[in-house]
Amino acid sequence: MIPSLLSKDTIVALATASGHGAIAIIRLSGPQAISIVQGVFKGKNLQQQPSHTLHFGTIRDEERILDEVVVSLFKAPASYTKEDVVEVSCHGSPYITEQLLKLFLQKGARLAEPGEFTKRAFLNGQFDLAQAEAVADLIASDSALTHQVAMKQMRGGFSQEIKALRAQLIHFASMIELELDFSEEDVEFADRTALRKLISQLQRLITDLLQSFEMGNVLKNGVPTVIAGKPNAGKSTLLNALLNEEKAIVSEIPGTTRDVIEDEALLGGIRFRFIDTAGLRETLDTVEAIGVARTKEQLKKAALVLYLFDLSSTTPTQLQEELAALEMPQVPYLLLANKKDLATPAQIREFSGMENVVFLSAGTKEGMEDLKHTLLEQVHDNEAMTGDRTIVTNLRHYQSLQQTSDTLAEVQQGLDNGLTGDWLAADIRRCLFFLGQITGEITTDDLLDNIFTKFCIGK
Ligand code: GDP
Repeated sequence: MIPSLLSKDTIVALATASGHGAIAIIRLSGPQAISIVQGVFKGKNLQQQPSHTLHFGTIRDEERILDEVVVSLFKAPASYTKEDVVEVSCHGSPYITEQLLKLFLQKGARLAEPGEFTKRAFLNGQFDLAQAEAVADLIASDSALTHQVAMKQMRGGFSQEIKALRAQLIHFASMIELELDFSEEDVEFADRTALRKLISQLQRLITDLLQSFEMGNVLKNGVPTVIAGKPNAGKSTLLNALLNEEKAIVSEIPGTTRDVIEDEALLGGIRFRFIDTAGLRETLDTVEAIGVARTKEQLKKAALVLYLFDLSSTTPTQLQEELAALEMPQVPYLLLANKKDLATPAQIREFSGMENVVFLSAGTKEGMEDLKHTLLEQVHDNEAMTGDRTIVTNLRHYQSLQQTSDTLAEVQQGLDNGLTGDWLAADIRRCLFFLGQITGEITTDDLLDNIFTKFCIGK
């Protein structure tokens, strides 16, 4: 565990987004935070005020009033960084914030580095590393699901799982190390059968977490949803209807959507990444042939396929043939019977018994609400995507888990080969090292710099 290293210097940064706004907040943290603000504040004596109080007054540069402000006091250790923190809420003008920042710098504060407030919070034991990283994810979250995952991680859900794994391994490592002290006597404190059991338990848990990473990416980047179908089925029209704007070019000449168009839409709090493909039709036209090849490529990336067909000119047999020719990946798909407005009741009846069919008219937007509803159901039916499961979204965590898993496999192999306690203990310690990197029990300056420089200034 890193010892508490209370900083000697006081940092300052704009905590709100830059630009004009009703209010802007400048945050200071460190031992001089209160005295620096007091030096330019006309109002109550801040040093004599209790923590968690608000104070109205003016900030002055000599005799010139820069702004009327409200100062919030958070005294150490009851603050985000566990140091004295002062937040100055001023009017949201870039000129005012610049003047105030300059003044605080003149009075002895230093401009904070990216992520430095959160880094101090971590170093002072406010939360562990995975939780600190979740602060950045939370700020970046832009859908209900990414928000849910980041919130769970920030509140320590993921860390608890990792720490529980570590605690069990530490127990075994110390048992084995105890054996080494009694090596003359040939005793086994660490029950090898129990250790095997623990290792397979850990491997199962870690495999689950590793697999969740793929899902984590889907949540972060959107559910890759491929829109496929023959030329003129209405793919571009559907994409436009889903996006509610004219991004894809709609044309009446079959095969004109030659390239792959990608766009994102938030439906019911879930991000979908729609991929519109060129017409799926074997053709001699080389440009379009490339398009067909790309479609097959895109289908491999899909988590969900929307297969569109023209209800007014397709028979069930033709549809089955199209699907058979597609080499569809093993992912959920919906059959979208488009151009319902042009179809006869008999044509509609022909398809109504079929599974996974949604009837719609992308052109008139009839049935779009049903489609959105069905899309959301597809995601919610996939338990892995929702529910209470822990989802790994951070590449660094993924890599550490992978290294832990590889090392656990070595411990397992060591047990199979009757490796001596000292070697087993060394391998277990390596597992502990990799697990410890996730929550920050084990850190290096490089690792910390790497993480916190990705934050923006003021966080
Ligand atoms: P793509 O080749 O699959 O991308 O098909 P497009 O989206 O370019 O549509 C082909 C033609 O069908 C265009 O003239 C669209 O206006 C028309 N279209 C698309 N959806 C509908 C629909 O629901 N009803 C009708 N009547 N026409 C549609």
